[in-house]
Amino acid sequence: MIIDDRHYDVIVIGSGAGGGTLAGALSRKGKTVLVLERGGAMALEDQNVADVDLFQKDRYHPKNERWFGPDGDPFAPQTSYARGGNTKIWGAVLERMREKDFTEVPLQEGISPAWPFDYAELVPYYEQAEQLYRVHGKAGVDPTEPGRHGDFLAKPKAVEPFLEPLRAALQRQGCQPYDIPISWSDDREDPSGDAQLFGLEAGDPDRLTLRDNAKVLRLHVNPNGREVKAVEAELEGDTWLFRADVVVLAAGAVNTPVILLRSANSHHPKGISNGSDQVGRNLMNLQLTSILQLATERNSGRYGRSLGINDYYWGDKNVSFPLGHIQTAGGVLQDVLFAESPPVLSLVSKLIPDFGIERLASRSVAWWAMTEVMPDPHNKIWLHNDQIRINYIHNNREAHDRLVYRWIDTLKGVEKDPITKVVLKAPTHARGEAPLSVVGYGCGSCRMGDDPANSVVDAHGKSHELENLYLADASIFPSCPSVGPGLTVIALALRLAEKLD
Ligand SMILES: Cc1cc2nc3c(=O)[nH]c(=O)nc-3n(C[C@H](O)[C@H](O)[C@H](O)COP(=O)(O)OP(=O)(O)OC[C@H]3O[C@@H](n4cnc5c(N)ncnc54)[C@H](O)[C@@H]3O)c2cc1C
Repeated sequence: MIIDDRHYDVIVIGSGAGGGTLAGALSRKGKTVLVLERGGAMALEDQNVADVDLFQKDRYHPKNERWFGPDGDPFAPQTSYARGGNTKIWGAVLERMREKDFTEVPLQEGISPAWPFDYAELVPYYEQAEQLYRVHGKAGVDPTEPGRHGDFLAKPKAVEPFLEPLRAALQRQGCQPYDIPISWSDDREDPSGDAQLFGLEAGDPDRLTLRDNAKVLRLHVNPNGREVKAVEAELEGDTWLFRADVVVLAAGAVNTPVILLRSANSHHPKGISNGSDQVGRNLMNLQLTSILQLATERNSGRYGRSLGINDYYWGDKNVSFPLGHIQTAGGVLQDVLFAESPPVLSLVSKLIPDFGIERLASRSVAWWAMTEVMPDPHNKIWLHNDQIRINYIHNNREAHDRLVYRWIDTLKGVEKDPITKVVLKAPTHARGEAPLSVVGYGCGSCRMGDDPANSVVDAHGKSHELENLYLADASIFPSCPSVGPGLTVIALALRLAEKLD
């Protein structure tokens, strides 16, 4: 065992949306920060230059990482262990949660719980987050847009030419498509923003120390169990101990509870900060279905996510509960379906024999339908012989199915429209539901709340049980909005940085 000589103000575990942002912000405020990141620098060709081949088989499934699903079978999770975490492969769509998302909302199958604070509390940090991550967007078009002070600082990027007539066609169907807010760096080699660039590299290099390929195993506490005294990590085959006044876990919705559970000791027999037995529970994995539409012309296949539609976010005609969010996927669409649901695509190619799989894939427009799920204590991450197990059953499924069918109806309307020339009338719309291995949108597994009896951390992410332990990642979400969690994770990290200052 090697014990590091240095003592830091703060150790941050994980350098993704939460950890990378927090570490950069704390160092700018004058704190000495050590970031322990289990991955290394991701090669440029592996990054999501334009959301291209994001779902290509095994490309973003870390080697040798196997988790076990509800049936006990192993699976390879789609997750990025690298500087910047999942932001290295994300779509970079950075949306604010809606005001109502912070309140108790009745869903078709139950209740989406309230957060311990309201939207207004997060507004200043959403503003900072949008500036830091250079979010490009246009206010005032999305009907569900939450209140904001002024427009985005940067205008939306131009969409692919064929998407403009599609936007107009959707408007003729009564939809209100908007340019989805995207983090954009303007670096031609690596245009989409991420937490390496806008988090770590925006920090003060004299105060921020990054140790990558440092996999944190567990936390050690002082004799009365009230403080974290050391962080144990594996580095190049050696075991190290690192020390700081404050320790922040930001290893993501699966690995943060795993580290807490693995750190069990006599004061915390069920895992650190787990007196409530909520560590690892209430995992929420956004319901994601990709839907394929046929295009008349070949498209470039190298473009990012572009249009969003929230017309069904809170319901629909005769539907008084939320259905969710729709957005265009990026280019090279065959990978989305080839990798995750090849049987669906083969089925379509049988139904349309003249339209071979390759042509189908390169002449397509893919859409994502996204619907929230509710926290359920049975949906949990747990350890068995130190292996990661995930029990998970989606809930709120009917609302998601309604969204998918509603969207397919809208697409059919677009295809029937005689003015629309960019898409083909198709007998069927292939679709594929993201399986459990697509865990990148997961949240909620160490939820925040005011009551220590049923939450793990308070409204700032501070452990209810340890004086110097904080969580700063998607694990602390009490509910799971239908828009991506990224911007909210970043805003929460900036809010925590202010508290720790
Ligand atoms: C393909 C894909 C596309 C996505 N697109 C979007 C999008 O467009 N918009 C959006 O809002 N969200 C998107 N998301 C979700 C978004 O990326 C996550 O919500 C966000 O990154 C969560 O931030 P985090 O800090 O909780 O975790 P992460 O960003 O996952 O960071 C966790 C970090 O901890 C590190 N780590 C894990 N275990 C350890 C350990 N034991 N020791 C040390 N380090 C450790 C990891 O390597 C990683 O760097 C996408 C996700 C994926 C996978």
